[in-house]
Amino acid sequence: MKRERNERSHKDPVCGMEVSPIAAVDQLIHEGKTYYFCSEACSEAFEAEPARYLRHHRQHGM
Ligand SMILES: [Zn+2]
Repeated sequence: MKRERNERSHKDPVCGMEVSPIAAVDQLIHEGKTYYFCSEACSEAFEAEPARYLRHHRQHGM
């Protein structure tokens, strides 16, 4: 087996920050993929409306 574990940082889909799995405050599995979050606020926002963050890749429409 030469499959390496992915220990690299993942992108927090809500704020766009790089979060390492070890340092992540929270994580959610959405459609078979694990997402890591820098804060509970981000995970809650994602959980409430995952499609919003996956489609509109951190678009600031202000
Ligand atoms: Zn975040």
